[in-house]
Amino acid sequence: MTIQELSPAEARQRQARGARLIDVREAHERATGMAEGAQGVAKGALEAAPATHVPDRDAPLLLICQTGARSRAAAEALAAQGWRDVASVAGGTTRWQAEGLPLTPPDAGIDLDFHERYSRHLRLPEIGLDGQTRLAEATVLVVGAGGLGSPAAYYLAAAGVGTLRIADDDVVDRSNLQRQILHAEERIGQPKVLSAATTLAGLNPRTRIEPVAERVTSANIDRLLDGVDVVLDGADNFPVRYLLNDACVLHRKPLVYGAVHRFEGQASVFDAGRQRGACPCYRCLFPEPPPPEAAPNCSEVGVLGVLPGVIGLLQATEVLKLLLGIGEPLRGRLLQFDALRMQFRQTRLAPDPDCPVCAPGRDFPGYIDYAAFCSGPRT
Ligand SMILES: [Zn+2]
Repeated sequence: MTIQELSPAEARQRQARGARLIDVREAHERATGMAEGAQGVAKGALEAAPATHVPDRDAPLLLICQTGARSRAAAEALAAQGWRDVASVAGGTTRWQAEGLPLTPPDAGIDLDFHERYSRHLRLPEIGLDGQTRLAEATVLVVGAGGLGSPAAYYLAAAGVGTLRIADDDVVDRSNLQRQILHAEERIGQPKVLSAATTLAGLNPRTRIEPVAERVTSANIDRLLDGVDVVLDGADNFPVRYLLNDACVLHRKPLVYGAVHRFEGQASVFDAGRQRGACPCYRCLFPEPPPPEAAPNCSEVGVLGVLPGVIGLLQATEVLKLLLGIGEPLRGRLLQFDALRMQFRQTRLAPDPDCPVCAPGRDFPGYIDYAAFCSGPRT
């Protein structure tokens, strides 16, 4: 069935001749302002019971949404149910506004910044107002404001995570700027957490940044995890990786892991704290760190500058999914990325029933501070 699509100006003329204009967007979208004279009935409610809202099947009807797709679909649904004079406004409220046609003022008290800033999230039914509100109420611990933490924190702030607690005891060095995009030339020598806070505040002043200019150790790990919903490991070194793993099992927090080396990277979600025996932790894979002489010397190993961007954004994606409760988290799977071949490979990871930390029923063995392998700047 072909639905007639009208320009906003044509719709306005029909409206003047008595056609009813119905805005089929969700209530939170309509709160930012509607085409003048429109009545709000969300698409789902309208399609479920059209006769309740439009008893006369011959009445001239005009449907409008944000950009024209939902109103066209709703018009098709109504036409299929026997409404004979339904048209859709092409381009929707966006075009209506752009062409200078009158709008009702936004609802009193509405947070226009929130609705504009997150409009592309709010239009996704999987996120919507509930999901965006959940993000705003969330606290994420980002360990490391370096190569992985930079892109991750950048996008988590942009996406509207309410609080980012960022822990890093390092200062900005010129050699960081090849990949650590939160920082800037003029902030060389500054603590990374303060440099990060400056950039993130410029991107999204709604996100609260808690800068913690400390090295992560057993002495502060409990405090760092306090009140946190998800932990992102952007430190990419063995002592912190094991400490975070153990602490996240103890405190039942999901840990989003990432690591990079030269042209390759990997990511996973360790959720053994909340799902003992069902999900692996990092120690299920590698019970102990390698001896220092076997581990790469981080200050000497090179890394392709974009690589931590790829892995850090995979981590940020997993953080958002965990906070929103959508999709299939990267639990029990290790995703490996090879930039030179441009290939992803996935390996299944099973929990180790004898894991020293996360085996069901096992008492927590206590924290271990392994010797730092890297004295130089972290990757
Ligand atoms: Zn384990």
